[in-house]
Amino acid sequence: MSSSLFSEEHDIFRDAFRKFLSKEIAPHLEEWERDGIVPREAWKKMGENGYLCPWVDEKYGGSGVGFEYSVIINEELAYVGCLGLAAGLHSDIIVPYINSFGNEQQKMKWLPGCASGDIITAIAMTEPGAGSDLAAIRTTAVRDGDEYVINGQKTFISNGILCDLVIVAAKTDPKANPPFKGISLICVEDGTPGFSKGRNLDKMGFHSQDTAEMSFEDCRVPVSNLLGGEGKGFSYLMQKLQAERLIVSVMAQALSEAMLDMTIKYCKERTIFGKPVTSFQHNTFKFVEMATEIELGRNFLNSLIEDHCAGKDIVKKVSMAKAWIPEMANRVAYHCVQLHGGYGYMEEYPICRLARDVRIFTIFAGTTEVMKVIVGRMMGL
Ligand SMILES: Cc1cc2nc3c(=O)[nH]c(=O)nc-3n(C[C@H](O)[C@H](O)[C@H](O)COP(=O)(O)OP(=O)(O)OC[C@H]3O[C@@H](n4cnc5c(N)ncnc54)[C@H](O)[C@@H]3O)c2cc1C
Repeated sequence: MSSSLFSEEHDIFRDAFRKFLSKEIAPHLEEWERDGIVPREAWKKMGENGYLCPWVDEKYGGSGVGFEYSVIINEELAYVGCLGLAAGLHSDIIVPYINSFGNEQQKMKWLPGCASGDIITAIAMTEPGAGSDLAAIRTTAVRDGDEYVINGQKTFISNGILCDLVIVAAKTDPKANPPFKGISLICVEDGTPGFSKGRNLDKMGFHSQDTAEMSFEDCRVPVSNLLGGEGKGFSYLMQKLQAERLIVSVMAQALSEAMLDMTIKYCKERTIFGKPVTSFQHNTFKFVEMATEIELGRNFLNSLIEDHCAGKDIVKKVSMAKAWIPEMANRVAYHCVQLHGGYGYMEEYPICRLARDVRIFTIFAGTTEVMKVIVGRMMGL
């Protein structure tokens, strides 16, 4: 990706990360897909090489570098089709909650492990009865002396099997009116009595990503595990959504670029009726249409990355990007499978897995419809 955002140092970093991925990650992808999980050692290797939470302050074990480095890591992971090792979710979506809303003691306790790969994180908001409507969650955290007693069920939690630390959205005030004011974020460590991880869910794609149910039954954690203030959880989640939607858009955009590249390569080599598949005018037009949409996405996205790095409030535009880029990537996926013919439906062709994996991008981190609701509101509609 070329942009004024990236300097020579960034390019050197990207190059080194690419080499790391081709040696340590790419050769194992198929095996991890079959296993339904990425081994912990891969997370450790990412951490040892500075590829987890690179933005975390050096004092807490990070490299203290800018958001551009997170963009590079997420793009490159998507380019090689490594979506199971959810480094973006851990580094750029979950750990920032600890960094921004945790106190010094919490940061000293957890951030170094998050950067080294010793602590894998998860965030548990979604419940069987509450996904898009977060304020409707029913998990409670009732204060009892110096402890919170957590009860409730969560589902679809990424890193749900591997996680050592989960940030749980729970109601510390179930009677709060409006209900969102009763939500708090509480950290629960793996092994805490009453906290259990359910089965690794069988999904349409993202097979190497461990996505699980979680249950909390009279799970007691010290009140010192509360992140920030009581009842502020919803507002914290809203504050961090800009970065979350941006990272998800970065990955979906990179996937669309990877799918187009591999399809052009395949179709140039594949000959039918004596000609390469690319040379049929209908297909040329398809490629041009996809390339145009991808270019539009790339330019929009780059402008957002630049604004985000400059500290601008771009919630509306980022929500537009999250609503549009994953949908665009899915259109690209559909046509790229079609252009591969029957081979596009075969596991040995990477387009098969990418087309399946990209489907989730219109759903998690806020669905396309929820993004449109937000943008509509911001437009005063
Ligand atoms: C693989 C995977 C990983 C995930 N990882 C996590 C995680 O780590 N942590 C976590 O907490 N959650 C996670 N989720 C949950 C995800 O964020 C939710 O699935 C998502 O927010 C949608 O919620 P829902 O599934 O309950 O759908 P619902 O809320 O039931 O939505 C159903 C449909 O209604 C639409 N809809 C909702 N509101 C409106 C509206 N106002 N107007 C029009 N249509 C609307 C939706 O867009 C959707 O099409 C994950 C999900 C998956 C599948």
